[in-house]
Amino acid sequence: MKPARFDYARPASVSEAVMLLARHGTDAAVLAGGQSLMPMMAMRLATPGLLVDIGRLPDLDRVEPKDDHLVIGALATHAALLASPLVRASAPLLAEALPHVAHPAIRNRGTLGGSLALADPAAELPACMVCLDAEITLVSLRGERVVLAGDFFRGVYGTDREPDELLVSVAVPVAREGWRFSFGEVAHRHGDFALAGLAFGARREGRRIVESRVAYCGIEDAPRRLLATESCLAAGRSFVEAREVARRELEPGSSRDAPAAWRRRLAGALLERAGRTA
Ligand SMILES: Cc1cc2nc3c(=O)[nH]c(=O)nc-3n(C[C@H](O)[C@H](O)[C@H](O)COP(=O)(O)OP(=O)(O)OC[C@H]3O[C@@H](n4cnc5c(N)ncnc54)[C@H](O)[C@@H]3O)c2cc1C
Repeated sequence: MKPARFDYARPASVSEAVMLLARHGTDAAVLAGGQSLMPMMAMRLATPGLLVDIGRLPDLDRVEPKDDHLVIGALATHAALLASPLVRASAPLLAEALPHVAHPAIRNRGTLGGSLALADPAAELPACMVCLDAEITLVSLRGERVVLAGDFFRGVYGTDREPDELLVSVAVPVAREGWRFSFGEVAHRHGDFALAGLAFGARREGRRIVESRVAYCGIEDAPRRLLATESCLAAGRSFVEAREVARRELEPGSSRDAPAAWRRRLAGALLERAGRTA
């Protein structure tokens, strides 16, 4: 199928882009890597009247350290992040998760901003950002605002972003000493969206876990930290006990090929697997 007719604009700056978004509201769509938007338009699941192509905006693909954060521009591609020594050193969870995001051709064009703005419940990077308490910066004619990743994702393809806002960057806290992160997922094939994925982090003192982070993708409508499960691990309980807490804490959606009970079992298995490497 072909997309419905649309107009196309290629703004030269962020301010020009947000002016277009303000003028056209919900009739406009931001075009970043196009890896999700173009197929959705071809299937007429999305029919924007105007595409605001931000693909060539300068500086939005930067990855740079700032204070105790790594600031990643919205246009940084999955492939660039995967190849970045800064990401590997400062945000090891992202380095673990990125090989699971789609396939090389899609990673070459797909962007971090696109993945977060799309908010697919099965996508890996939103869960990682929630796990890490990353801060998402949005810009509009009204100015700039920063939203904690945990408050940004609101259900299936739903976010806190207003139609006139452009997601410009994400600030990821630099991994502190003593923390270890891992990402694991179950998918039909490597590179497919996750049937269930777990972004996990833990800090140990000696052998004992004293802090942990647990956020899933592919289980619920939107990623969130599982605070009861995190507390269970920080109280020195075993991963087998934590697995049971996670299974109770989760509220998985149900579909014919992925019933809730099955998703719960996958979630528990992923946590136990994380426990073997944490
Ligand atoms: C076959 C296939 C397999 C895939 N597998 C996976 C996978 O396993 N895991 C995964 O996470 N993803 C997967 N993807 C999606 C891929 O990662 C996309 O690249 C990503 O989700 C969207 O990024 P994009 O830059 O292409 O965004 P686009 O497609 O350009 O845009 C996606 C949405 O975000 C909005 N948007 C984009 N950028 C911004 C911005 N800066 N500010 C505001 N709104 C914005 C757009 O308007 C649109 O609604 C897959 C895609 C395909 C086609």
